[in-house]
Amino acid sequence: MSDDVENLELDETADAEAAGAAVGAAEVITLGCRLNTYESEVMRGHAQAAGLNDAVIVNTCAVTGEAVRQAMQTIRRIRRERPAAKIIVTGCAAQIEPERFAELDAVDHVVGNAEKMQAQTFQSLALGDCERVQVNDIMSVTETASHMIGGFGTRARAYVQVQNGCDHRCTFCIIPYGRGQSRSVGAGEVVSEIRNLVENGYREIVLTGVDMTSYGKDLPGQPTLGNLVRRVLKLVPELPRLRLSSIDQVEADADLLAALAEEERLMPHLHLSLQAGDDMVLKRMKRRHLRTDAIKFCEDARKLRPDVVFGADLIAGFPTETEEMFQNSLDLVEECGLTYLHVFPFSPREGTPAAKMPQVARKAVKDRAQRLRAAGERVLRQFLEGQQGKVADVLLERATFGRTEHFAETVLATPGDVGGVVRARIVGLRDGKLQAEVIN
Ligand code: SF4
Repeated sequence: MSDDVENLELDETADAEAAGAAVGAAEVITLGCRLNTYESEVMRGHAQAAGLNDAVIVNTCAVTGEAVRQAMQTIRRIRRERPAAKIIVTGCAAQIEPERFAELDAVDHVVGNAEKMQAQTFQSLALGDCERVQVNDIMSVTETASHMIGGFGTRARAYVQVQNGCDHRCTFCIIPYGRGQSRSVGAGEVVSEIRNLVENGYREIVLTGVDMTSYGKDLPGQPTLGNLVRRVLKLVPELPRLRLSSIDQVEADADLLAALAEEERLMPHLHLSLQAGDDMVLKRMKRRHLRTDAIKFCEDARKLRPDVVFGADLIAGFPTETEEMFQNSLDLVEECGLTYLHVFPFSPREGTPAAKMPQVARKAVKDRAQRLRAAGERVLRQFLEGQQGKVADVLLERATFGRTEHFAETVLATPGDVGGVVRARIVGLRDGKLQAEVIN
């Protein structure tokens, strides 16, 4: 699954703050994943350069039916709040169902996922001489370019897209139809983009993509994600922290594991696209691993980097999942030693094979999701309690709030500079957040 879709609405605040800086400038509302967050910054730059004003760009997500409903609600709210603004809808929901958005009176333009990354799209929008719907066949897109972004509004960490699209066809997933085939950004471009962001003061970079572990398969010499990580850390020695957004552990290359073992600046936090813990369910999902592969990957990675922590996407209530099969997913939490769970109650996504499979009763889906979340809260608490007395480097997202190398939320006793990294001793735990005192 594309990077974690955790805070569908979170980005609005950051976007609004950043947009507020330039009165009248186009506002960008980001729904969905970190890849969308990255692309929203690219669109903000294109819109500003084109002089596109009094416009609202809604960068949508299509990962679930709920995500599309939220896009619709957001558009209607914006139209109520800004009756005169030009509303431009883009992102995966617009790419997959352009006509559905074009039918809305509230919508002025519908733009595809490839078109949204092109400067000329915003020039023609600013001039008002373009088609109402500009959405081409995303499967025909073979390249993905990097974009020199200066910053990410008020964010402490910057996202860099290294890969887009996906060649897999997991039975529950609509993303390949919104993002197209897998394609990678050249390593040289990635390094230049990261160097530029570090020169602009960013202390942490998050590499992002749709299926990042397929990085490089379409590039000359087929460099791997591990090669790319090594190259970035070698050629940008000023970068203190490099983080990976989400990986498919069964595709993780040997260089990536070696980098995890040897590169202190590669954060000891891997988010795994596990999805389930039962082999029959994994087979029906058309995933490429078995539960024993996931357990072995975590064991091997922990031997190489003993303090590594794992996050994971897990779906509860996939069609045909029995109580016994679900128990295998629940047991996987301990067997892999997971710390951060992103739990998705299965919801049939129209247009996917899984939507046509025999569905699990909604009550059971919700109940299983709740039990997985409870397991997630328990393992996270165990991890946080184990941090007491330890020393961590905290990247500040607000004056007294940030995250450690292990991505643990941390509250500092004394304020610091947003975007800075401070060394701190963990002295307590309150409301699921570490309490820490600065020691440098
Ligand atoms: S098809 Fe599978 S691998 Fe590709 S984005 Fe969807 S869940 Fe991820």
